[in-house]
Amino acid sequence: MRLLITGGAGFLGSHLCDRFLEEGHDVIAMDNLITGSTNNIAHLAGHERFAFIKHNVSNYLYVDGPLDAVLHFASPASPNDYLEHPIPTLKVGSLGTLNTIGLAKEKGARYLLASTSEVYGDPQVNPQPETYWGHVNPIGPRGVYDEAKRFAEAMTMAYHRYHGVDTRIVRIFNTYGPRMRINDGRVVPNFLAQALREEPLTVYNDGQQTRSFQYVSDLVDGVYSLLLSDEVMPVNIGNPNEMTILEFAQIVKEATGSSSEITFVQPQDQRIKDDPQVRRPDIEKARSVLGWEPSVRLPEGLEKTIPNFKMRLAL
Ligand code: UDP
Repeated sequence: MRLLITGGAGFLGSHLCDRFLEEGHDVIAMDNLITGSTNNIAHLAGHERFAFIKHNVSNYLYVDGPLDAVLHFASPASPNDYLEHPIPTLKVGSLGTLNTIGLAKEKGARYLLASTSEVYGDPQVNPQPETYWGHVNPIGPRGVYDEAKRFAEAMTMAYHRYHGVDTRIVRIFNTYGPRMRINDGRVVPNFLAQALREEPLTVYNDGQQTRSFQYVSDLVDGVYSLLLSDEVMPVNIGNPNEMTILEFAQIVKEATGSSSEITFVQPQDQRIKDDPQVRRPDIEKARSVLGWEPSVRLPEGLEKTIPNFKMRLAL
């Protein structure tokens, strides 16, 4: 296959580039580098089946030659980032989806949308199955991401139903691993960097809110299987191992051998407004349709991630 991966210089996008290249495909990565970095794909420079194009997919885009698949992974993905870039976040989910799915239609390519557990908002159902419609505040600070992704799903289904584009939608739950931006503000890079620097771990509120963390290689396996499957309707890909953020702080301390203390902080800005109180994927559909389930347990995933953080923190 010859693929276009938008957001190809981001955390997930760059791991997807690696995987598709390993499988023998040709990969074009596109990224405007507002939250992505060429450091994530520097090791691919000069690869004969890899190309990088710096471009903002919210503007018109065209790629020469045939394409078999378009994977739309471009978007700020950390609450801090989409608070800092609210309009680019809305644009890449709406205009960026329109432009990339239009390209897929033009090329007769399969289209895979990177959607998110944020479409479920602050869920009133736990775990969240794909059939749950969600509980999103459209005008809150997270609305710029959540609603853009909900619009992107609607656009993807409309192109499928009206234009017959061969589409896939993956709803990605919290994912971590090497190359996550250290200062992206999310809990995994924050806690890892704080623990490795022996600084206090900043647990927001009372730390009783929950998340379920999946290692990046599991996500990549899930996306790969979904792309090759026939499933058009959304599929959750995440690890159902749910824990409180306070428990997660303790796990990070143990994994890093850190003597950092844990502090409870109350950010005074918009960062934690509408913070989902629980989140856990129902993965029955991924199991039955894709035969997929996560295989990397949290301690093992952290063990694979810590050296990459140490290297980048120059510790
Ligand atoms: N969080 C925290 N301390 C931090 C960063 C985040 O307690 O330094 C909490 C945050 O309030 C949320 C959870 O960790 O409940 C996950 O936040 P993150 O930004 O990683 O992503 P989200 O899952 O909210 O998109």
